[in-house]
Amino acid sequence: MREGLQKIVSDDETIVAISTPLGHSGIGVIRMSGPESLKIVRRFFKPHTPKSEWTHQVVRVGKWNDMDGQELDESVVTFFQAPRSYTGEDVIEISAHGNPFVLLRIVEIIRTAGARLAAPGEFTLRAVARGKMDLIQAEAVREFVEAQTDRQARTALRQMEGSVSRHIRPIKDKLIDVIALLEAGIDFAEDDVDVPSNASVAGRLQPLRAQLDEVRETFGYGKILRHGIRVSILGKPNVGKSSLFNRLVSANRAIVTSVPGTTRDVLKEFVSLDGVPLCFADTAGIRNTTDEVESIGITRTFETLAESDLAVVVLDGSSELDESDRETLRRASRVPHLVVINKNDLPQADISGELNGTKRVSISAKTGQGIEELLSGFRAFLLSQKTGLNDDLVLTNARQYEAVTNASSGLLAAEQALATGIPHEMVLLDVYRALGALDELTGEVVTEDILDRIFSTFCIGK
Ligand code: GDP
Repeated sequence: MREGLQKIVSDDETIVAISTPLGHSGIGVIRMSGPESLKIVRRFFKPHTPKSEWTHQVVRVGKWNDMDGQELDESVVTFFQAPRSYTGEDVIEISAHGNPFVLLRIVEIIRTAGARLAAPGEFTLRAVARGKMDLIQAEAVREFVEAQTDRQARTALRQMEGSVSRHIRPIKDKLIDVIALLEAGIDFAEDDVDVPSNASVAGRLQPLRAQLDEVRETFGYGKILRHGIRVSILGKPNVGKSSLFNRLVSANRAIVTSVPGTTRDVLKEFVSLDGVPLCFADTAGIRNTTDEVESIGITRTFETLAESDLAVVVLDGSSELDESDRETLRRASRVPHLVVINKNDLPQADISGELNGTKRVSISAKTGQGIEELLSGFRAFLLSQKTGLNDDLVLTNARQYEAVTNASSGLLAAEQALATGIPHEMVLLDVYRALGALDELTGEVVTEDILDRIFSTFCIGK
C-alpha cells in the first residue's frame, strides 16, 4: 500500500454506499468494497442459479432478503474479485430497482452485517491506496463525473487513463538517475568513482525542467477547459448587447428593449463552443449618467470586465461613434478583446477611419448574419491559449500546477547551484525537492491534508 495511506485505509473494513443519485429511477446501484463483501452477499442474496459460483466479473440475478429472510427486491449482482476491481479489493455491485426506500434498506442490511457507510470518494481513495490509480487519475475521476461538455469529459478520461502520469513517470526516472549519479560521486569520492562534471549534470537537468515547464504551461488551457472563458459583452446602451447575448446563448434570458440603459445588472450564461465552456456576461451599457441605479450597473460592468478573459465591444454600425463608444474601446483595450460592429442590416455609417485597423467583425444580432464569423473569433482566441502539447495532456487543477511548478523551480535552483560551483550535497537537496514535488503530484507521497482536500469534494459512492 502507498506510503501515508496505510493509516487511512484499513485492510479489514468493508464499505458500502449508494452510487447513483437517490431518487425514483429504473435502477439504483449500491457498491460494496472490502474483505466481507462476498460473505455479506452470500448471506442476503439468493441467486436464481444457486449452483453456479461467484467468480470475477460474473453477474447473477436473484432476490435480496432482509434480516428475517423476507424478500426485499429482485436485483442483479456483479462480483469483481480482488485485485481486479476498481478499488483493488473484493467489490460487489448491486443493481436494485431505483426506489430510495429499497436501496436504503439494502444498505442498512449490509451495514448491520458488518460493513460501514463509505465516506465521500472512499472507493477511489482505496483505489489509490491499493495502487490501482495515482492521485492525478483519482482527481480525473471526479472531473469526469462533473464534466459538463464532451471536451471536458474526454480530457478527464485521458487523465484517468494516465495521460499526465505517463508523461511524468519518465521525468521522475531520469531525476532518480541524476540523484544516483550525484550520490555516487559523493559517497565514493575517495574511491575511483568519477565525479560528474557540473556541466554534465546541469545538461541532464535542463531538458527535464523544460519538459516540466511544458506540462506546467498546459494549466492555462486546462483552466479554460475546466472553468471556461469569461466573455463580457460591452458597449453603450442600445447598441444591441442583449440581442447579441441572446443570439449567443440562443435563449431569451436578457430582456431586449429599446429604452436605453435597462440592462442594469449583469446576466451570465454558459454555452459550449467545441466543448469549451464560454460564460457570456451581458453588462449594463457604458455611458456617463447621473442615475444612481444605472451608475451601480456601470460599476458592475467594470468589475465584470476586470474578471474577463475576453471582452466583446459592441458598436452600432448604423451611427457614428461617440464618446461612450470611445470610452468602452479604451476600457476594453486593457484585456484581449474583439470589436463587433452590430446592426449591419441597416445602412452603415463610416466608422472604419476611427477604428484605424482594429480587427472587427460585422454582424447583425437581429438577422444572425456574421455570428459564425464571431464564433470563429472566439475559436481563434481559444486556440491562442493552447500550448504545444496535445489536447489530452492538460493539467486541470491548481494542486497539480503547484506540484509541477515546485518541481521545476527545484531543478532551476539545482542548475543555478551547479553553475556557481556549490557542493553536490547542496545540489542534491534541490533535486530531491523536485522529486518530492513530483511524488506529491502523483500521490506516491501524500499527506492527510492533501487527501482531505481531494476526496472531500467527491460524491458518496465514488
Ligand atoms: P443593449 O442596450 O445594447 O443591450 O441593446 P438591445 O439588445 O436591447 O437592443 C437595442 C435595440 O436595438 C432593440 O430595439 C433591438 O431590437 C435593436 N437591435 C439590436 N440588434 C440589432 C440589429 O442587428 N439590427 C437592428 N436593425 N436592430 C437591432
